[in-house]
Amino acid sequence: MSHLTDAPYDTASLLGGLDLARLRHTVHSGATLSLGRRREHLAALRRLVVEHEDEINAAVTADVGKPALEVRLTETWTIVQEIDTLLAHLERWTAPRTVPVPVALQPASARVHLQPKGVVLVIAPWNYPVQLLLSPLAGALAAGNTAVLKPSEITPRVAELLARLVAKHLPPEVVQVVTGGVPGTTALLERRFDHIVFTGSTEVGKVVMRAAAEHLTPVTLELGGKSPTFVDATMDATVVARRIAWGKFVNAGQTCIAPDYVLVTSEARDPLLAALREAVQEFFGADPRTSSDLGRIVNGRHHERLVGLLGGHGGEVVVGGEHDAQDRYFVAPTVIADPYPSAPLMQEEIFGPILPVLTVADAEAGAEFMREREHPLALYVFSSDEKVRRTFEQRTTSGG
Ligand code: NAD
Repeated sequence: MSHLTDAPYDTASLLGGLDLARLRHTVHSGATLSLGRRREHLAALRRLVVEHEDEINAAVTADVGKPALEVRLTETWTIVQEIDTLLAHLERWTAPRTVPVPVALQPASARVHLQPKGVVLVIAPWNYPVQLLLSPLAGALAAGNTAVLKPSEITPRVAELLARLVAKHLPPEVVQVVTGGVPGTTALLERRFDHIVFTGSTEVGKVVMRAAAEHLTPVTLELGGKSPTFVDATMDATVVARRIAWGKFVNAGQTCIAPDYVLVTSEARDPLLAALREAVQEFFGADPRTSSDLGRIVNGRHHERLVGLLGGHGGEVVVGGEHDAQDRYFVAPTVIADPYPSAPLMQEEIFGPILPVLTVADAEAGAEFMREREHPLALYVFSSDEKVRRTFEQRTTSGG
């Protein structure tokens, strides 16, 4: 604890009334070993989401500019589904399992007992600010843990609302919320937790892992990156374009597993570009700015970053390209054909509605392109050729 007093700022005030000892005592007392108690916590979390769905939706829309249906589909309904799955499987997933013992240890018998870890810290990003805070919480509660939640400061209405709702629905000996930005999170990470679930950028993931190492705290890091997509001529371009456009432009491209860029074979290139143009028009109309289905960029800093990526790429803008910081940070769904692979657009995670499409000779060249870069979070292959699919399955590495 001595490093806390050494800190250059007043960490206690940054952490509000955080009472870690109280959270830890709940687990140590054995109170959360009972599945009945865990079910109560999950039911309370479910009520929090269901009873306040409209308030939650309004806060997300106000903070991120997400259309209401998207909020339900990607935030509230997802959490309720997660809780229902946990409730349905809780007994089976937590049951002790008998395991064989080696001959040398017989006649002993062995069983695996699953135990709560203790206090779990959940740090969430802003792009799915409710789901990525409350879904890890549901898992932590199902496993008999208590938790500290740190919502993103970039979505302040959501953070304030969730702090209020958690205090209303869940007891403070089970869940506490700490709001604030980098100084607060830095102070929080100096404290000892029993597990940390962090969802956010790779850069901050490194900061979290370094802080966790001080206490040898295990971490679950859900990070970002450039998720590639491969397309060849063996599939219907219209179907492929619609699927890519949905994955790329939902939440205005601010999704960790959004297709970041597309590698397309030369014979599939023109049909795909034409079909992408049609898909964007079908989804968002002739003027996407007026579409109620298109989300907005979260803030001025990210808008500026995306506008920067729209220049100096050396490619051809075949769809979109318009932007307007005054219109709640609007960026049109944009497709850029054949930018330089060295352009900033192809170096950093785009995290916005801009889709570069690069031409490659074949699947082998596509896989090689992907292997030369960091392992992606997700990788998408649109091909009905079994050999091509195997190439990507066996010769590339990705989260999914
Ligand atoms: P971020 O890394 O900037 O912030 C995430 C959280 O870390 C926030 O709560 C923030 O307050 C905190 N934080 C920021 N800087 C910090 C620092 N220096 N020290 C300690 N804490 C700090 O990420 P973001 O911009 O909120 O979210 C976007 C990123 O998250 C993208 O890279 C995206 O791909 C990724 N992401 C990943 C997943 C996944 O499941 N893998 C899901 C959603 C988003």
